[in-house]
Amino acid sequence: MELHQLTIHELQEKLKEGKTSAVKIAESVFQRIDAVEKRVHSYIRLMKDEALAAADKADKDIKKGDIKALTGIPIALKDIVCTKGIATTCGSHILHNFVPPYDATVVEKLRDAGAVVVGKANMDEFAMGSSTETSHFGVTRNPWDLERIPGGSSGGSATAVAADECIASIGSDTGGSIRQPAALCGIVGMKPTYGRVSRFGLIAFASSLDQIGPFTKDVEDCAIMMNVLAGYDPKESTSVSAETPDYRQYVGREIKGWKIGIPQEYFVEGIDPEVYSAVQKAISVLEKSGAKIVEISLPHTQYCLAVYYIIAPAEASSNLARYDGVKYGFRSPDSGDLLDMYKKTRMQGFGAEVKRRIMIGTYALSAGYYDAYYKKASQVRSLIKRDFEEALKKCDVILTPTTPTPAFKIREKIDNPLQMYLSDIFTISGNLAGIPGVSVPCGFTAGGLPIGMQFLAGHFEEGKLIQIASAYEKNAKIEKRRPKL
Ligand code: GLN
Repeated sequence: MELHQLTIHELQEKLKEGKTSAVKIAESVFQRIDAVEKRVHSYIRLMKDEALAAADKADKDIKKGDIKALTGIPIALKDIVCTKGIATTCGSHILHNFVPPYDATVVEKLRDAGAVVVGKANMDEFAMGSSTETSHFGVTRNPWDLERIPGGSSGGSATAVAADECIASIGSDTGGSIRQPAALCGIVGMKPTYGRVSRFGLIAFASSLDQIGPFTKDVEDCAIMMNVLAGYDPKESTSVSAETPDYRQYVGREIKGWKIGIPQEYFVEGIDPEVYSAVQKAISVLEKSGAKIVEISLPHTQYCLAVYYIIAPAEASSNLARYDGVKYGFRSPDSGDLLDMYKKTRMQGFGAEVKRRIMIGTYALSAGYYDAYYKKASQVRSLIKRDFEEALKKCDVILTPTTPTPAFKIREKIDNPLQMYLSDIFTISGNLAGIPGVSVPCGFTAGGLPIGMQFLAGHFEEGKLIQIASAYEKNAKIEKRRPKL
């Protein structure tokens, strides 16, 4: 195996034993990028010089015996997290020239842990989308089938890992944007509990839903990344001061006697038959591992999508009001007075999907409609959250498919927003409830497309998710395939 194909923990072994160097690992990753990036388009920006300098420093640290959690490991960042002195576009024309004066807390943490930042990954504009087709910088392609979408909005972060253009990456998940692309690209993706990972320096989409989390090649790597990312941040008012366990201790533990809840509402018509049977097979693997299956009900499931598409656009319309040509990024060059400048900047700076969300959100928040839409949606959100609290009294974790279908074709759903929004039907509830979720690979379609399943747990129970995902990964013995590129 080549260096870029290995996991974080495999590379760490090699580094420790002196069998390779951080510079060699970084060079291997950039060779891989040279070979496949034109076809996949994972990145908006590559940071080769910075990466090689960081790798060189990592090698010096290793020589001194100073080895940290991610020393010498190449990591990609979704272009939604601020990087000091390096353009951060959020996939939008309106921020194409925005250079943040500071690093997001997660970026700081990754750098402090010795990570080598490879580049900024492509994404749907302002993280609105499920296919990475709405980026101002072009589409990202699924490495398993270049005619298909990789999922979104963190599509570039997912493909960079799946195509071995980095070892692990960072994404953000507002309604499924980590778990859905992880499933469609055949890798592991975790959305932590709301408040577990600092969002300081994350460009806001919907503030009551947004979370940062990792994409990795396996579950152990997910635990390693979570150890670096999780924790209280005084700079972020929603970050929680709850203690952070060592997530790695949950890797490889048994799940005998665990109760796994299967929500009847998530196994209904409309699921692709191959997805359905892969998840059924996974359930029997878990039963053989000593877990018990219990039927549960999440009765307000049918409202999740509607609630999300009120709350997320409402918050987005407010968050995106700051892009007016004055404070950040792009300003329309051919404008007259101030009002004209605002209008033209926003008209020329935002893409169609972002404008759609701003309009929906502004409408839902306007006087006279607020009670009917936003307030109602917030009330139903509480019921959805309560569903999970009740269900999780009966089981340790909940299992669902991550997505209703495998990766669809590029352009297949771009002109049909409702169809596109359905891609997140199984992931959105986790964001509304604020609970953690992880997507793990659970097989392939006959045509060779990856399939993922999702585990959900109670607030701050990421450890449980790692434990069950790792037990499944070990016992299922899913065939290790790589995309043929
Ligand atoms: N696809 C969903 C949306 O378009 C979720 C996106 C996300 O999680 N950032 O809003």
